[in-house]
Amino acid sequence: MRRYYADLHVHIGRNGRGQPVKITASPDLVLHKVVEYAWQRKGLDLVGVIDCACTGVLQDLRALVDRGHLLELPEGGLRHRDQITLIPGAEVEAVESHGGVSHHLCYFPYLRNLSEFSSVMRRYITNMELSSQRCGLPARDLMGVVQACGGVLVPAHAFTPHKSVYGNAADRLSDLFGDLFEDIPALELGLSATAELADRLPELADKTFVTNSDAHSLERMAREYTVMRLAAPNFRELLLAWRRQQGRRVEANYGVDPSLGRYHRSFCLVCEQPRVGPDAVLKCPECGAFQRKDFVRGVFDRILELSCLPSNPPAHRPEYILQVPLNQQTGLGMRRLNQLVAAFGNEMNVIHEANMAQLVPLVGYQLAEQIVAARSGQVTMQASAGGRYGKLMGVAAAHDQLSLF
Ligand SMILES: [Zn+2]
Ligand SMILES: [Zn+2]
Repeated sequence: MRRYYADLHVHIGRNGRGQPVKITASPDLVLHKVVEYAWQRKGLDLVGVIDCACTGVLQDLRALVDRGHLLELPEGGLRHRDQITLIPGAEVEAVESHGGVSHHLCYFPYLRNLSEFSSVMRRYITNMELSSQRCGLPARDLMGVVQACGGVLVPAHAFTPHKSVYGNAADRLSDLFGDLFEDIPALELGLSATAELADRLPELADKTFVTNSDAHSLERMAREYTVMRLAAPNFRELLLAWRRQQGRRVEANYGVDPSLGRYHRSFCLVCEQPRVGPDAVLKCPECGAFQRKDFVRGVFDRILELSCLPSNPPAHRPEYILQVPLNQQTGLGMRRLNQLVAAFGNEMNVIHEANMAQLVPLVGYQLAEQIVAARSGQVTMQASAGGRYGKLMGVAAAHDQLSLF
């Protein structure tokens, strides 16, 4: 078994005929480009494309299989040039009877499962050409359909305020899924949460946490990712790892500092101000706004609202490493980043393999130190709130740490 890098939440901007799929995503996110970029530039081993049930993308997938660019693996997943495995999936919006909405990542092993899901969902989704569409089903029933089609469901960015299980649909995942709760192998943390925060909720102790980019552009792919220990990069192994069976497992989660995430802390829409405090801020201290339409509850605030317990990670929980994506490293412009990628093959190699001696001649001491420090999570960011991204402030304490050696 060995380590594999996985980012399992990447969108498609346009299908092969140039029609929009995820309207807010870059038009460069075309299926074959996503696969190439994930492999050659990012150095990922598994890429999950979660707009594959959209009619046009499903056609693109079939065309790539027909041309031999993608090979369906017997264990599930589609292999490109024996270099990267595409895990096909769909992001779907469920809606509860009380109106709460949540997004879910639905993954499938084979094209036939995916096309079956696509045709069943046609009954519930008005426009199957577009990404992340709302279906008329509550989350539990959506999961029933996914399972009947041979797939697996993972709640997406589980704590974000507008469209997520905890952010908008329920106080307890087990209430939302009832009898199917046990079958959920994993939960996507989202950019604004970390494992430490999520481990305040006891019902999640058995769930594996996944970190993904939710990329809307090629460059943002792998800004969060998971390191997995697998025997081979395929769908079956992925499920074993999520379920922590036969020695397969998630070995580490790499995430951006949650305060860089768009929704880490609460934001008052009336005052147009972030509302930050040491504890959960659930109401604007200035104007008193608290209703959903006026006040966006931050992920941090929501988790503290749901649980007053301290973080209690189970024994199986892997390391969560706060990282800075290379393209957000202060002082590392595109030209130098391209030089690094040329020297080390891909971004994962730069992030995880390149050592000081190799980096210094290429980018100088300070940047080299920054890159190596980011690898072990020694970074600080400026807090963010209410849909505005925080700013990366630079390396914290890394110098002290490194000068010990
Ligand atoms: Zn998404
Ligand atoms: Zn206010």
